[in-house]
Amino acid sequence: MKSSRKVKCSHEDIALKSFFIGPQSENAEWTQREINRILKKYFSWRRHLFHKDGRVISAHDQQDKLFKKRQADLAQKLHRLSDRFEGETPKHTPRYVAHMVSEVSLPALLGHFLTLLHNPNNIGKEVAKVGLEMEAEAIDDLATLVGYKKGVAQGHFTSGGTVANIEGLWRARFRFDHWLSLGSYLRNYNKSRESLFELAHMGWDQFKKTIQKHQIADEALKSYSLVASQPWVAFRHLEAGFGHQFNGAVILVPGHKHYSWMKAVSLLGFGEEAFWSVELDRFGHMKPSDLSLKIDRARKANRPVAMVVSVAGTTELGDVDSVHEIQNTLDDLKKNQGIHIWNHIDAAYGGFFCSTLKDPVSQKILSERTLQAFQALHRAESITLDPHKLGYVPYSCGAILVKDESCNGVSQFAAAYLDQTKERQIWTTTLEGSRPAMGATAVWLSSQSLGFNEKGLGVILRKCLEARVALTQLILEQLPEVKIIDAQDTNIFCFSVARSGQKSSVANKLTEKLFDRIVKSPEFSVSRTILHVNQYGELIRHNAANWSLELDSDRLFLIRIVLMNPFSTSKVSKFDYLQGFVTFLKREIKRIAK
Ligand SMILES: *Cc1c(COP(=O)(O)O)cnc(C)c1O
Repeated sequence: MKSSRKVKCSHEDIALKSFFIGPQSENAEWTQREINRILKKYFSWRRHLFHKDGRVISAHDQQDKLFKKRQADLAQKLHRLSDRFEGETPKHTPRYVAHMVSEVSLPALLGHFLTLLHNPNNIGKEVAKVGLEMEAEAIDDLATLVGYKKGVAQGHFTSGGTVANIEGLWRARFRFDHWLSLGSYLRNYNKSRESLFELAHMGWDQFKKTIQKHQIADEALKSYSLVASQPWVAFRHLEAGFGHQFNGAVILVPGHKHYSWMKAVSLLGFGEEAFWSVELDRFGHMKPSDLSLKIDRARKANRPVAMVVSVAGTTELGDVDSVHEIQNTLDDLKKNQGIHIWNHIDAAYGGFFCSTLKDPVSQKILSERTLQAFQALHRAESITLDPHKLGYVPYSCGAILVKDESCNGVSQFAAAYLDQTKERQIWTTTLEGSRPAMGATAVWLSSQSLGFNEKGLGVILRKCLEARVALTQLILEQLPEVKIIDAQDTNIFCFSVARSGQKSSVANKLTEKLFDRIVKSPEFSVSRTILHVNQYGELIRHNAANWSLELDSDRLFLIRIVLMNPFSTSKVSKFDYLQGFVTFLKREIKRIAK
């Protein structure tokens, strides 16, 4: 397929092509040269560091028969291994529109590769002198990206969004456990008349003042803590102090909750019942009105809200919750009633869109509501980011950021309010022990060269948004039986294959059939998702009505398209990826209809 239009590219756009290897390995030579340079410098560094020590592997050794045989054997196995990897899913091409991954960027790849050679362990300074510097600087860059104050915000890299989310809840639990312990202590000693809900959300100011006023020692508080003591003992104290049953804390999570939250809740001992799902609206966004209702319900039941989770970029639809409205609700509670509730933003997927906020084209594609949501990320207590998704960084690289030191306490009972934190080693605040520095360096070099702003990464993400607009437009024009879900906040969209008047169970079967065909074809890769009525009820009913679909199933089977390759919209290659995909879909739909 020959592209008919000649499209002019700006120098800026052309320059950005230098940041990827390219679908046809166009930048292979340059990449190879840089990798060779890294290796050369690295070998030379090793050679010169203690050069007087002399060799342990002599030239003679290297000529030894068995030595050479072993080497040849390894080389052969290595080559066979690289043959095997040619069977790996090709994720570097714009034909791959399946999951939240694409070709990694060159700064990320090279930063990762260079660091790999030095193998730092970011568990501590002794094993990662430079690695930890990279991490601190890269965290500053990510903090700046989401609008946190550089130097005030804290954080670290994790193996991914799952661990970062668990770490968010770990910190929120630390905070409310302190407040609740003090509350329990006060009530057991008849020093307060406030309710359990009020005391559990008292805020650090009231906490510190009360501790000083009553001269309460750490040790005295410990036995009231669910974490520092025994939860079962602490429960007994709570019930004795407050004179009513205590049914545990709750976590308010939007109905589209990522699976990582189930893991977090289960690991941190909350129990699945603690999950209170907040309803979603017809676009799949958490409803702030239902959030207020759930907070009220928790208050009436005297159950602390350990955390509210808002999502900026859902895994299914790339949807962005109205973070600004959610935060307004929580800020009002704090200001008017002294109720401090932790907001954690799961921006694992969407967080990097903050780099597009000053780009006029992206501003037009992202709705006003979505823009406001991204602009409000910095108001929350903690944020999860996944550089290994829209940061174009190799796996595995996630990050947890917190607003300031007061949100970073995890396990040392005294740390959060006694300001002993300056000397704290990083490993005391990370869930993982040994940690690599590759992700940190990959992020650092990306930020330094590409830049997390409207001139760098922002342009690439703008292209992803443009790709979504262009592809959905082509589908609309050419494929009447493809019905796109009316929820496209970012660069993901989902569709069903359905005809007017059809039953949703039939549409599901047809869509699944199409999906199975696409999976078997080597031409394009897509993913699928299933939305359930009990979570996405309003969205499903809204879309079914739009498509004149008769709902007779509790689920909607959808094909999911994630457009994150920087070259999807390219008009210079022989193959037009977007039109090519539409033509491919048309052919496959015809085949399943038979
Ligand atoms: C990907 C994702 C996660 C989990 O991150 P991993 O890096 O896969 O552990 C959590 N939340 C959201 C919204 C995600 O998209």
